[in-house]
Amino acid sequence: MLLEIDKVRAGYDAINVLWDISLSAEEGKVTCILGPNGGGKTTLLRAITGLIPVKQGQIRFAGQPTTNMKTWKLVEDGVTMIPEGRMIFRDMTVEDNLLIGGFIKRCRANARANLDMAYDIFPRLKERRHQLASSLSGGEAQMLAMGRGLMEEPKLILIDEPSLGLSPLLTDEVMAIIARLKTQGRTIVLVEQNTHKALEIADHVYLVRGGKVMLSESVGDVDLDRLHDLYFARDTAAERG
Ligand code: ATP
Repeated sequence: MLLEIDKVRAGYDAINVLWDISLSAEEGKVTCILGPNGGGKTTLLRAITGLIPVKQGQIRFAGQPTTNMKTWKLVEDGVTMIPEGRMIFRDMTVEDNLLIGGFIKRCRANARANLDMAYDIFPRLKERRHQLASSLSGGEAQMLAMGRGLMEEPKLILIDEPSLGLSPLLTDEVMAIIARLKTQGRTIVLVEQNTHKALEIADHVYLVRGGKVMLSESVGDVDLDRLHDLYFARDTAAERG
């Protein structure tokens, strides 16, 4: 496993959010974390990337312990986060946003080649490379955030709700790009609320609710009714009498 999370507890100051979460991500696969609003998905990604402290439990990346490692060090080691809300620099051009991703020491020398690679995957970014990022549509901004992440030559890509706020058409486009990244052998952890779309590209699925893993299944074993019951916390035993 490229990423292993073992009984992690984390949250914000006195408020604990994650309750002994265990999860892993296999190399070259798409691992999907599904779950309702406020379930703790983003908090989990923050704990993995060192943005909030892990109070208990262990995280390992590529066989090495990385619990509470500094975020910049994790990026240097190949862990890239494509955050919810994209967090692009709106007052900079599309190309400068991409080049920022390529500025880390490990891949600085390859920045030009990586830029071509990003433009190959996202031709629309190439067309708009001299525009300010603030002029991009939501879908294009998502592509820019993904392109910037790829500029970091990641070994593990964490993508937080890429479909957020996008039309169904653009969601399909973004998901198709993630599927393409998968065919390139990349390792992806995808956080999504759009269950159907996520299941189309996932290899393994986790359902996180109330800061706990409620289900862990390979995608072929997923029973959609059961998944939805757990997702919406429906008491199926009572309902089915
Ligand atoms: P969403 O899909 O809405 O982003 P999520 O599963 O990613 O949901 P989180 O964002 O991880 O959920 O939130 C989990 C819990 O942590 C929520 O109760 C939320 O209010 C709380 N939380 C999130 N960010 C903070 C913060 N910066 N400070 C305090 N509490 C927070």
